[in-house]
Amino acid sequence: MQSATIQPPYHQWMLNAYLACPEALRLTLLARVKPAFRHYARVRGTVAHATVFRLHVEKAWDRVDEVFEEEWGQQLALPGPPINANAKKLAKEFEDWRDALRQYVLREREARVVFCELPVRGTVRSRGGRPYAVEGVVDQVRPCADGGFDVYEIKTSAANPSLATFERNIQLSLYAWCLHAGEVFVENEWQAVSKVLGENLHGIVCYQLAQLIPYRRAGRRPDGSTYAAGELRGDPCYRITKTPEQLEQGACAVARIIAAIRAGGFFWNPSAMYGGCDACAVKHGCGKELLSNSPLQPAHFEAA
Ligand code: SF4
Repeated sequence: MQSATIQPPYHQWMLNAYLACPEALRLTLLARVKPAFRHYARVRGTVAHATVFRLHVEKAWDRVDEVFEEEWGQQLALPGPPINANAKKLAKEFEDWRDALRQYVLREREARVVFCELPVRGTVRSRGGRPYAVEGVVDQVRPCADGGFDVYEIKTSAANPSLATFERNIQLSLYAWCLHAGEVFVENEWQAVSKVLGENLHGIVCYQLAQLIPYRRAGRRPDGSTYAAGELRGDPCYRITKTPEQLEQGACAVARIIAAIRAGGFFWNPSAMYGGCDACAVKHGCGKELLSNSPLQPAHFEAA
């Protein structure tokens, strides 16, 4: 029988999925509709995160190509629904993101990382005071020179979001709140963040890996400036900081989304940012899609 609501703890990916389309989250988690495909952007994200993790944990800096290729091969060999990209597109994905990870090695091999893939959890409260348990996994915790720590989040969307987009991002709001008032899973137990990391969270650095994909040919940016073949796209690091008030605001925003999920607010709202109905893997279970006359390939997913 179909469960009435999505149960806690609420993970960041649930909130992102809800924002992409509430109905798609219902179809996936409550109606158990099987996805028709795996989106290549998600495959790329999994491969990039696994490679970065291994670079740091295994100190595999001199084997970046080998590690990337292994992770790529594993993803392509997975059973289940196919990836929604043809061989040419997949070959370009492989080349782009392998090159980005080579650049990551050059920039980050000396970086000090105290935790990789660190589970975090916390509690946010509805306006009426109802507690909701939230969880997530932060990519990296790095110590700062002057004490405290930064959280690094590796981002693998192909387009380049603005700093304001990152500052309002729900996933980052959830992480920031957990790291301010929650717990981290260390040495097989949940422990208070304050006990494990001591100092305050200084900031969250969104590491936009696509910025490290070299341009393949010379060209001109929208602002008129030019770039050469082989040049990188820009600084990958977007630093966001949160005041105590912004931390509270972020926690409230997360709680409001969870309250809507719990209330059964599974309305139809295909977000163009995530590719809309054209990129919906559970479209066959929906019947309410809003299709475009032209194939929608959102910049969010597409590498230039
Ligand atoms: S087809 Fe469109 S409206 Fe239906 S669940 Fe998917 S994204 Fe939402």
